[in-house]
Amino acid sequence: QAKETANMTAAQEWRRKQATASYGKRTDLPMQEQRRGLPVYKMREELLAVVRANQFLVIVGETGSGKTTQITQYLAEEGFGDTGIIACTQPRRVAAVSVAKRVAEEVGCKVGAEVGYSVRFENETSEATKIKYMTDGMLQQEAIVDPNMSRYSVVMLDEAHERTIATDVLFALLKDACARRPDLKIIVTSATLDSDKFSKYFNDCPVVTIPGRTFPVEVMYTREPEADYLQSTIDAVMQIHMFEPVGDILVFLTGQEEIEASCETLYERVKALGSSAPELIILPVYSALSSEMQSKIFEETPSGARKVVLATNIAETSITIDGIFYVVDPGFVKINAYDAKLGMDSLVVSPISQAQANQRAGRAGRTGPGKCYRLYTESAFKREMLPNTVPEIQRTNLTYMILMLKVMGINDLLHFEFMDPPPASAMIMALEELFRISALDDDGFLTPLGRKMADFPMEPTLAKTLIASVEHGCSEEILSIVSLLSVQTIFYRPKDKQEQADKKKARFHHPHGDHLTFLNVYNAYLQNGCTRTWCQDNFIQDRSMKRVLEVRRQLVAIMKRSRHELISCGARTDSVRKALVAGFFKNTAKKSPTDPFYQTLAENTPVYMHPSSALFGKTSSSNGQYVLYHTLLLTTKEYMHCVTVIDPKWLVALAPTFFKVAESNTKKQKIVPLFNRHEKDQDAWRLSRGRGTAEGQ
Ligand code: ADP
Ligand code: MG
Repeated sequence: QAKETANMTAAQEWRRKQATASYGKRTDLPMQEQRRGLPVYKMREELLAVVRANQFLVIVGETGSGKTTQITQYLAEEGFGDTGIIACTQPRRVAAVSVAKRVAEEVGCKVGAEVGYSVRFENETSEATKIKYMTDGMLQQEAIVDPNMSRYSVVMLDEAHERTIATDVLFALLKDACARRPDLKIIVTSATLDSDKFSKYFNDCPVVTIPGRTFPVEVMYTREPEADYLQSTIDAVMQIHMFEPVGDILVFLTGQEEIEASCETLYERVKALGSSAPELIILPVYSALSSEMQSKIFEETPSGARKVVLATNIAETSITIDGIFYVVDPGFVKINAYDAKLGMDSLVVSPISQAQANQRAGRAGRTGPGKCYRLYTESAFKREMLPNTVPEIQRTNLTYMILMLKVMGINDLLHFEFMDPPPASAMIMALEELFRISALDDDGFLTPLGRKMADFPMEPTLAKTLIASVEHGCSEEILSIVSLLSVQTIFYRPKDKQEQADKKKARFHHPHGDHLTFLNVYNAYLQNGCTRTWCQDNFIQDRSMKRVLEVRRQLVAIMKRSRHELISCGARTDSVRKALVAGFFKNTAKKSPTDPFYQTLAENTPVYMHPSSALFGKTSSSNGQYVLYHTLLLTTKEYMHCVTVIDPKWLVALAPTFFKVAESNTKKQKIVPLFNRHEKDQDAWRLSRGRGTAEGQ
């Protein structure tokens, strides 16, 4: 009884705070009035009643109806935040951070107080936090130490239609936790109509639909396929800007580089028109963008001007920008996909699905009737695009996910309750890879090293590199390099100063390649006091470097917590390259003696040196025969990104489970993989281990 009263007061206190907060900075409408105008507001009582009566609930509603920002607040207002934290997961870190900031503003608190967020390498929460926005990856990581999710009262799995691996895994983990904790509530929200599937999975739970408030959108296609979609994008934007009535434009591009380049081109095009053209405010949105820049996109456009937002698919459903009347959709997205030919994940620009195309078009119809310019043909839409996006779990490398499950003691992968199980072959491949980096033993059980890798919220190969760096006496250096690898780009290369920028960059080049070039940049940045001026002078992205420092700080904390020593190798950088080989031995290639490309050691696939590499055009048969790369990027060719020269002897010494010295009739030694994966007897890797299942016999 007493507890209930206390809860009431806490919730009342919460509401009082909301009501008295100072609002209305961005628009004329006071914020509380704006909140009441959202479609979800009318459903408030119904939603709360269904949550009280059920453990699981699926909510479907148009993007912008208020699901993400409002439902957590309704729950807090009703006291759900008093018995535990109300968590709301997002597939992307930018969305988690931006939404937390908005909601903190609506609640009238500082970010990190009652409303906070937790994303990889950044935690803005405190004892007071009742509403916590977080990436699905962070919640998955927390499930390792707390499978019952005991800190939480409600978990809202937001943007479930995106079907990221982490959300898919959380479906199963949370369903399991709910069986043990009848008081835990799970809300799954989706912007698309796949609600039946979600409902069925969660024991036929109720589905609540939030009626949308949308206007018709006129969809236009091109008559012919476009040869250069970036060029046509710019043309389309200029066309709209010059000839269409007022209204802002939203453009979907695939990534930071493309967005930055298009912003510059647009800027030049508008400038060339002189004062005859109305003002065009050009705003980029991608995940590595600073938060001040990101909040600019929500600012109202001054009258007489037009705003154009160039965004990645983050603007598809996770963030809503008001005032958009025109959408330009080239039809592509950059995804992480497993490439069977290469035997690994690579970032590929691929066509979107029909469902995504429709989501994109819908962004134009929120404020009034809008227009969507599809830069592809109608027949491409109908015949070449898949109806729905393939869940990530069915297309990417599962190594990290399986390591997580193994750490949680889930060895029986065949009986893990996936909503859409990944193909068995993909799971077997991931198990094999974990075995190769010594995270699993011969029987498929987790090794102590594997357990240590799971402490790091990153790809197991990177974690392995960090752990190996201690043995090689260079953990300080590898920490810096891994932090640098976690940001998209550190070099700045404006179109009109490319030559100058390249010259500056060349001064950091290390003869052994990009990883050590990165280290040179990092050390110079530190020596020069981490200043913005230094960054500007050297064509280095100040923002990225700030983030590198932050990431490094967090990694150092993990290293200390896990008792890994911090040591520097000084000038003996061979140890750095050896530590890299310990983790990335699979990403290695040898220069073809006759052709301009390299061939991967594992699969003999041709791969090229990326022009941005310090080694581009520099390798000769003497120093650059064998290289290691961080990732592959598929554009017109398969490019190696971030490349370092290695000594092939290290491969045999550091990855004896993967490489051997081949018998050869010439005198030269040859390094070859121990076996070809495709020839291996796949039965050797059973999917269910332990727990005495039939398959485990
Ligand atoms: P949903 O989750 O249903 O897509 P949201 O809760 O994210 O909807 O957004 C509801 C509304 O809140 C949006 O239509 C937008 O007007 C407003 N909004 C959201 N984030 C911001 C922000 N950072 N700044 C200003 N307005 C915002
Ligand atoms: Mg949302």
